[in-house]
Amino acid sequence: MFRLLPSVPDHPALEEEILSWWEERGTFEQLRERNRGGPVWSFIDGPVTANKTLGVHTAWGRTLKDVFQRYKALRGFDQRYQNGFDCQGLWIEVGVERELGLNSKPEIEEYGLAEFARKCREKVAWSAQELIRGSKRLGQWMDWGNDYYTFSDTNISYIWRFLKLVHERGWLYRGHRSTEWCPRCGTSISAHELVGSYEERIDPSLFVRFPLIDRPGQSLTIWTTTPWTLPANVAAAVHPDEEYGLQENGEWVAIKRYPDETYVERRPGAELIGWRYAGPFDHLPAAEGIEHRVIGWDEVTMDEGTGIVHIAPGCGTEDFELSRVHDLPVVMPVDEAGRFYDRFGWLHGLSTSESTEQIVADLAERGRLVAAGEYAHRYPFCWRCNTPLIFRIADDWFISVDEVRPRLLAANATVEWTPAYFGKRMDDWLRNMGDWNISRRRYFGLPLPIFPCSCGHVAVVGSRAELDDLATAGMDQLVELHRPWIDAVEIRCPACGTEGVRRIPEIGDVWLDAGIVPFSTLGWENPEFVEGGYGTGAAKGLTGADLPDHNYWETWFPAHWVSEMREQIRLWFYSQLFMSVCLVDKAPFRSVLGYEKMLDEHGRPMHGSWGNLIPAEEAFARMGADVMRWQYCNQPPDRDLLFGYGPAHEIKRKLLTLWNSLGFLVRYANIEGFRPTFDDLASGPVAVELRPLDRWLVVRTEKMLADATAALEQELTHRLIAAFESFVDDLSNWYIRRSRRRFYDYDEAAFRTLWFALVTGLRVISPVMPFLAEHLWRNLVADVCAEAPESVFLAGWPELGEPDERLLAEISEVRRVVELGREARSTAGVKLRQPLRRVYVRGARLAQEHAQEIVEELRVDEVGFDQGPVALVRLLPNLRALGPRLGRKVPEVKAALERGEVEELGDGRIRVAGEELSADEVIRGERVEIAGWTIAYDGTLSVALDTELDPGLELRGRVYELIHTVNNMRKDAGLELTDRIVLTLPDGDELQSHEEWIKAETLASRIERGEALAITKA
Ligand SMILES: [Zn+2]
Ligand SMILES: [Zn+2]
Repeated sequence: MFRLLPSVPDHPALEEEILSWWEERGTFEQLRERNRGGPVWSFIDGPVTANKTLGVHTAWGRTLKDVFQRYKALRGFDQRYQNGFDCQGLWIEVGVERELGLNSKPEIEEYGLAEFARKCREKVAWSAQELIRGSKRLGQWMDWGNDYYTFSDTNISYIWRFLKLVHERGWLYRGHRSTEWCPRCGTSISAHELVGSYEERIDPSLFVRFPLIDRPGQSLTIWTTTPWTLPANVAAAVHPDEEYGLQENGEWVAIKRYPDETYVERRPGAELIGWRYAGPFDHLPAAEGIEHRVIGWDEVTMDEGTGIVHIAPGCGTEDFELSRVHDLPVVMPVDEAGRFYDRFGWLHGLSTSESTEQIVADLAERGRLVAAGEYAHRYPFCWRCNTPLIFRIADDWFISVDEVRPRLLAANATVEWTPAYFGKRMDDWLRNMGDWNISRRRYFGLPLPIFPCSCGHVAVVGSRAELDDLATAGMDQLVELHRPWIDAVEIRCPACGTEGVRRIPEIGDVWLDAGIVPFSTLGWENPEFVEGGYGTGAAKGLTGADLPDHNYWETWFPAHWVSEMREQIRLWFYSQLFMSVCLVDKAPFRSVLGYEKMLDEHGRPMHGSWGNLIPAEEAFARMGADVMRWQYCNQPPDRDLLFGYGPAHEIKRKLLTLWNSLGFLVRYANIEGFRPTFDDLASGPVAVELRPLDRWLVVRTEKMLADATAALEQELTHRLIAAFESFVDDLSNWYIRRSRRRFYDYDEAAFRTLWFALVTGLRVISPVMPFLAEHLWRNLVADVCAEAPESVFLAGWPELGEPDERLLAEISEVRRVVELGREARSTAGVKLRQPLRRVYVRGARLAQEHAQEIVEELRVDEVGFDQGPVALVRLLPNLRALGPRLGRKVPEVKAALERGEVEELGDGRIRVAGEELSADEVIRGERVEIAGWTIAYDGTLSVALDTELDPGLELRGRVYELIHTVNNMRKDAGLELTDRIVLTLPDGDELQSHEEWIKAETLASRIERGEALAITKA
């Protein structure tokens, strides 16, 4: 006996039950044991930042990872299942700062770096547990507890080794340049971190006068949206080839910008070069000794402003580059926190935004302001704390990319990207990216192992062991490779022997931490396998992960597959590729599945403050993990996912078709005492005579498996879902509906075929909906078949024969004929319960062998093919489409259409007057009615039903109505499906000739006569 199914599944409840059952049975461990020694499939998990609980965004990626790992496991692949956590850098620091109420770097230093590092580690440890808990609830199977943590000393040591190698190749250098800078975080931000960081913002728009020293009464007019950069002005740039003009009020501007003004003097930009002017803030000490002059610059645009550009090399990348070309002084107005230095007089201590109003007022007071307004534009913000970024000149450490760029491109060409355009984006990034800024002026992160000596030698320490060798002090207090402990370590300069050499204070870009993972977790060039050896430094006590040996790396590198969202192209996919190409000149992954963004169900980004953020816990409780997973998997990866309860509701509604089909099988199997045969799962029922419809369902199941397998091999889960959905529709709306009667009266072939199809469907959908599939496998298979594995995940991936495509095409055509026939009935207002004399079908070549099914489904006495009335549809040319293509031939085509001289070519295409017309080029007008017939037509198939009734047909129509009514009465009376009844028919009803039929259909043991229609339990 199967356990009866409730009318709808309670997802959260059955999921909790399956989770404990998996736990109790060690199902995942059994699966890993089963696949040990099998072929290897290597997946490397992109580390999730451990500073939060699980969100529905993260759950999307985790679901995809789980789906493919489960699928590969079903196919017998040995896998690692190592989960990873990103543990250091700005993300973690900013969160901890907020919790501690710290708002600036001095406050962190006052709090104490050691205590701050401990708080960061605590945060990671807490978040890791939360993420593990949420991921388990989602159904993700990973080797929890043996996770990698990027802040382990082992991970850090591997990055040191990479940096040393980069240094040996001469690619590591200290750059003095302009960079995007977050004043709150007090650090530069790397170009690849700016992806998606631009937001709309309103800035002041100022037109400012720069008086010319050698032309009294005349001035240059410049335009700026960043008033705080004006005190750092050193030059004004003009385009040498554009024409500039002097207006009557004494202001010089580009003529192209103000073509309607009158000019008293005109000169090409080239003639303005070298003119000296008074700077906007010459009275401040910082401007002392600076000679402001006009320079030429080809990049000056005539699209906005005045055509004269204010240049402040201390506040902009291009300005800084120009300072090198023209030997301009570089004035840095603000410090690390974005506040004016004391050389700026009354501006001292103000932030860039605080200074705006005062600068504007001061310029106005001194008669320098021409006009002030507002300007809306896209502006970059800090990706971690959302503070508007500024430009500063900083000394940062860079990896030069020019030499490695061609090798990166070559390596990327070996990677298979899904969707394919993601690979193109990576290519574009690789072609255009600048040198990699790897240093950050922060605290809890990868300590850059750079020790510059006063002799000029820069030592880059390549490992923890090397540090042990070189250190002369501070090793005894080095609890882990983090600040402040690492800052106290001193080494001996390997070049000159000087002792007391200290590390630079900077930490590294977090993407170094994540990029090294294919080496650090797999034991690259590690001589000896160390059990539990990965959990070093800050990771000690958090993980039992091993540090494998080089053989292991050879086995698992490169990954067969990685999967993350699109923004990772410039982040994790990039840093991994970069580090891997530097170390072994090879891409670290063979294929990548990327996906777009997640928005709410109305297409808006989810934000905590907007109230549309869905916490994962709430989603588990309200929709269930399986439904969430279905929603993620149903998403084509090249489009944004609109996630929410509305779509979840729709999924649940659709799933009812599957649920009701399962419920049907369970109900009648129990009534009829059906016991499944486990071996049927190998290739469908054997040793029982299958009817054509059963054979079709077996083939249909084979087809679904083939489509689903192909979809998974192409890494496209939405195609797997589509294959499954159409299979369930066919199974329910064709097989079960056509076979109901066989289940009322035990028909072994029908039971076995339906059980085989449903169970195979569950196996195929199990990677997407592991809970539901497991729950039903236990009910329908494991608990009733002694030889069945206890879990669907221990049963392997189904393997069936090649589907018979011809049979599938035949039935698919039969279904279309039936649908058209129903449509024709509905057009004519003839109920399905009213039998009709005949149907004529045209254009159906494949359906002819299934005439009997058409007869039954359309409730007609006979079917004829390629005869009878034709659907006459008025065809008109679509002039808008045809005109340009056929020109003067259009009238001829139109005339032929009117005469009906048309050959249908399928899919709505036709041939007329020697021309082939696509469906879009023809307008199909209303159908012409033919008396006594109702016709439906879909472009290639035409189905015509004879609607004329005779007394015999009418009588049978009434019998069908009666059976329908009585069966409803049975339901209303709460009778069991197997209960027999006594049926009372009204006196004088002339249905006697059909009494046996009525008795059979209503389970009536006898019919009595009385006043009104009634039933009683027999
Ligand atoms: Zn910031
Ligand atoms: Zn030295």
